[in-house]
Amino acid sequence: MSGKLKLWLAMSVAAGALGAGWPLAAQTPSPSSAQSGGQATTAAISSPSPIGDTTALAKEAQGWLIDLIRTNTTNPPGNEEVAALYIRHVLEKEGIPSELLSLSPGRSALVARLRSSAVADPSKALLLVAHMDVVGVEREKWTVDPFAAVIKDGYIYGRGTVDDKGMLVANLAAFIALKRANVHLNRDVIFLATCDEEGGGDASIKVLISKYWDKVAAGFAINEEGKVVMKNGKVQYVAVQASEKVSVNVAVVARGTSGHGSRPLKDNAVVHLSAAIAKIGTYDAPVHFTAIVRRYFEGLAAIESDDLGKWMRALDTTDRGEHAQKVISDASPLWSSLMRDSISPTMLSAGVRNNVIPAEARANLNIRLLPGDTIDVLLADLTKLVNDPQIKFEVQQNAGLAAPPSSLESDFYATISKVASAQFANAPVLPFMSTGATDSSQLRLHNVQAYGLVPFPLTEEEYQRMHGDDERIPLVSFTKGVDVLARIVAEFAATR
Ligand SMILES: [Zn+2]
Repeated sequence: MSGKLKLWLAMSVAAGALGAGWPLAAQTPSPSSAQSGGQATTAAISSPSPIGDTTALAKEAQGWLIDLIRTNTTNPPGNEEVAALYIRHVLEKEGIPSELLSLSPGRSALVARLRSSAVADPSKALLLVAHMDVVGVEREKWTVDPFAAVIKDGYIYGRGTVDDKGMLVANLAAFIALKRANVHLNRDVIFLATCDEEGGGDASIKVLISKYWDKVAAGFAINEEGKVVMKNGKVQYVAVQASEKVSVNVAVVARGTSGHGSRPLKDNAVVHLSAAIAKIGTYDAPVHFTAIVRRYFEGLAAIESDDLGKWMRALDTTDRGEHAQKVISDASPLWSSLMRDSISPTMLSAGVRNNVIPAEARANLNIRLLPGDTIDVLLADLTKLVNDPQIKFEVQQNAGLAAPPSSLESDFYATISKVASAQFANAPVLPFMSTGATDSSQLRLHNVQAYGLVPFPLTEEEYQRMHGDDERIPLVSFTKGVDVLARIVAEFAATR
């Protein structure tokens, strides 16, 4: 089969999925059959959106995604300016002016704005934000060229398809849809393509905000990290990220006497460090639940298997809580991390020669605190646990800042929930705290109600490929996600 024919077939599948609703193979009636007494779900799907049908737009967006994957923005060095110039060109064709925001040589963010009135009200504005940089690849482990945007078996392969160029393109499509449909806006909508999310350095959102806040200030934002979870061929639930854990790195330092390897010493730094890491590695910090995590488990309990659901409901009870926490922690590293400050030993270093006992041995702990917890309390517990005067903890400089969670009562959260649930066959929408860090924490620290939702339905297996090998997105999921995100944005920003 020729490449062109394959592409055409894949796109036909994508277009077909849109018309049939989601999921593809499910019994969901099409919008036309909904009129003759369909379910509430399909009535919602067929409800008019101010931007109309997005099938053609999604096909164009697929082309933008392919072009952007072929624009290598591996960070370091990033080189995001090339991607920014490409997006500027796409916007220019729509008659939308945009501006490059210079951060460092070769690295510029891009911002564009659709105005609702002559005088902007930043507290109402909606920011569509995504990063242009991607993490590196281990090329020999990929089955395709990671920067060629190969289309195969109904997927687009490439570094950044999921993190975060898919979202970048979905934001761009939603933004352009508003302009094309000449939607009367009730708030400014700002499109922002950022740099250095994966590095967090001199071109990161932190620097962008401090240099250019007047150009990006908003009351609401949508960004990466939330997810549409596919299981057994259908959407199991939609997780909207409203909070995130706080990253802190701590060095564990053991000091002892140095000496000749032929005469073992009781205070050998390597031995003391190893013993300390062995204790820390099996330690579970005390459980406590943030409001968002509590709601996440409550929602998940209703859709998980009976066995897990039962224990999720018991997590916070006095009699069975402790056992439930163990069952749920053992079932998933993610669930375990949502309940407590987590600690992963990630690096070790000691020694200069194989016959010399070193005076010092070091390890790094990558700690993710629950928002609101402090590192001092955790380190006091670890000091007691290790109980060794030769061991000291040194907090490293690169700690994240704890941001307040975004509200679960805001109009924007309500809109995301309503539209996402309707579009994904009444799937439950759960608030989510991510264990990793995103740019949203910086936005939340500036009073922005930021939410994470990558709108593409993906299986757990697909998520595993993020930052890994053969990252890819199913074409049908991409098409559906573009439509859903555009509907969410239009619903929130259009005057009714
Ligand atoms: Zn990302």
